[in-house]
Amino acid sequence: MSETADTSWLEQQVSILPGISDKRQKLFAKLGVATIGDLLWLMPRAYENWQERVPVAQLKEGQTSVFEAMIDNVPSMNRRGKLSYLRARLSDDTGSVNAIWFNQPWIAEQLRRGERYIFRGKIEDGGRQRSVSNPDFRTLEVAAESSDFFPIYPLTAGLYQGNIRHAVTSALKHRNFFIEESLPHEVRVTARLATADYALRRIHYPSSEHEVDIARRRLAFEELFLVVAGLRALKVGRENEKGPAMNLGTGVMDRLQQLIKRLPFELTPSQQKTLDLIVSDFRRSIPGNRLVQGDVGSGKTVVAVAAMAVACWEGYQCVLMTPTTILAGQHAKSIAGLLDGSGLEIALLTGATTAAQRRILLEKLTKGSIDILIGTHAVLEEDVVFSNLGCCVTDEQHRFGVRQRVTLTGSGDIIPHVLVMSATPIPRTLAMILYGDLDISEMKDMPKGRRPIKTYTATERDRSRVDGIIRRQVEEGHKVYVVCPMIEDSDTLELNSAESTFQRLSDQIFPDYRVALIHGRLKSKDKLAIMDAFGKGEIDILVSTTVIEVGIDQPDATLLVVENAERFGLSQLHQLRGRVGRASHQSYCVLVSDSQDPMIKKRLTVLCKNNSGFAIAEEDLRLRGPGDFFGVQQHGLPDFKVANLYEDGGLLREAAEAAELVFRQDPGLVKPENQVIMREFRARYGARLSRPGL
Ligand code: ADP
Ligand code: MG
Repeated sequence: MSETADTSWLEQQVSILPGISDKRQKLFAKLGVATIGDLLWLMPRAYENWQERVPVAQLKEGQTSVFEAMIDNVPSMNRRGKLSYLRARLSDDTGSVNAIWFNQPWIAEQLRRGERYIFRGKIEDGGRQRSVSNPDFRTLEVAAESSDFFPIYPLTAGLYQGNIRHAVTSALKHRNFFIEESLPHEVRVTARLATADYALRRIHYPSSEHEVDIARRRLAFEELFLVVAGLRALKVGRENEKGPAMNLGTGVMDRLQQLIKRLPFELTPSQQKTLDLIVSDFRRSIPGNRLVQGDVGSGKTVVAVAAMAVACWEGYQCVLMTPTTILAGQHAKSIAGLLDGSGLEIALLTGATTAAQRRILLEKLTKGSIDILIGTHAVLEEDVVFSNLGCCVTDEQHRFGVRQRVTLTGSGDIIPHVLVMSATPIPRTLAMILYGDLDISEMKDMPKGRRPIKTYTATERDRSRVDGIIRRQVEEGHKVYVVCPMIEDSDTLELNSAESTFQRLSDQIFPDYRVALIHGRLKSKDKLAIMDAFGKGEIDILVSTTVIEVGIDQPDATLLVVENAERFGLSQLHQLRGRVGRASHQSYCVLVSDSQDPMIKKRLTVLCKNNSGFAIAEEDLRLRGPGDFFGVQQHGLPDFKVANLYEDGGLLREAAEAAELVFRQDPGLVKPENQVIMREFRARYGARLSRPGL
């Protein structure tokens, strides 16, 4: 039999495996598993270990243990209403322990007095005697025949462990199939890693914890290495690309000075420095790729606008992409204001744009008569064609994934400059993973005259006081946000929904004020209209879900009330809070939560005590270890299946060193053994990231 790898096997749909019906295929899809490759990357969330049996006398409270014991008495069943309790005493030569099964009456028939079984369960303090609730058990015969160390997979309703195990087994048993190596040989050997084939088989079929560790280390390393090396290769590749090299002579630079002079404020040193760097990027002949990182409210927009204006005066078009329609709408308005009299034409493209408007807009864009296009990812669609794109700006980059990083192409083979704005403070190590292909500018100082936002916690009992705070701000002519975790009331969760909060405030508490409701389910058109009215000062209190989380700038807003604050991550609360305190008025943030959880209370206190995103991020990491501050959804981190950016810090350093070594020897990744890097990187992180020549 010939030993050729059947690599196409990984691309087959799971339905090709025995026992996978249409219905089951849909269940697998819910877990993100479409192909056999996906199935093999469905990582066990834990392992069930039946290996180490402990004498009953040595069972320790709080530990999940395995022990062999005899049923001492006839199992006794009690019923109370719908509940049933089955009790038995389990003993061996060294001692005994009480077992109790809740609501599983059928177990009574499976257990026989005087017989021995292997039990597995968590030992609890049962008063006079230790006890174990709902232990798993097997007869000695079954235990002798079955595996005593096996994976536990994430499930979805209707799919069972057995289904997944069975599918994985058949997938791995396929004839002539082995998993191809995804790391260069050197890298793998130097870092002393298992092969891909070994690792992916053993992660599903380990015979001990030790094997799991070996497999896991290999797979986590692979994920980290591929992202670090892949992003690095993109950066290297750019050196050979042609960007829109701009002259930026005195004419354009004078106009820039005038634009800055006309602003109602002076630029902060950070804003000035960042703008200078961008301008020098623009002058180079290779496309710039810069991350501008500055806390909420540090004034990133005006930097982006000045940069775009410069590019436009030089004859190029620019695009500004935002994660939400609301933010796109707001930017279109405020940028039109900032650039009033500049002679530049600005257009907005979102889901709210009608087909007819869109057609006209695209025509003008292709002709080159639109200078700045602002929009959501609608600007990425294929028929959006620029005549001479010079710069793309992504605002609130952390809300887009690595996968979605914009690489719109310019005209011919000119690659536009890329500017990425983000409010997320990221430690250097993470920056390498997220933005390894970018130059980073940090905007450390805040505009003058900002007062720290006063932040308080409150409970339901303080409700009338919270309403009082709202009233005072409105009476003083300011605007208020009330943010709720959900749109509608729910049967299962007791939360203050946006709809019920809106009803309460508009009907009962403040019938005389102008209260409005905004959430993600409204039509884009309606969202824009509401934000427009809010911007014009026609709304006093805006009840909202997190649709207003990023970027919204209404300087008159001085109070943010967050309902069920325990439902939000710290970074999200910090972003939300950034909606107020954007001018010199004293602003306030009230976090309403009835949660008694000490950790939640501590975290909310962190917010009350800190105004800087960096400080909050650090506190969050300290409090929770892998905090949610850098969570996957929040910041578009690559969705690693195995690697964990907090726990695998050491491995990340190793992977970065390995990448460093590869690039030192082969900067263009042209050696045959290194070709696998970009192949795998592209396969995993999508075509969007690939650039010509890579
Ligand atoms: P972010 O960095 O969160 O995107 P914005 O760019 O929206 O912040 O700016 C926040 C507010 O600060 C805006 O109202 C903006 O006009 C104002 N602003 C920006 N730069 C300055 C400055 N140098 N001095 C005073 N206010 C400024
Ligand atoms: Mg912003």
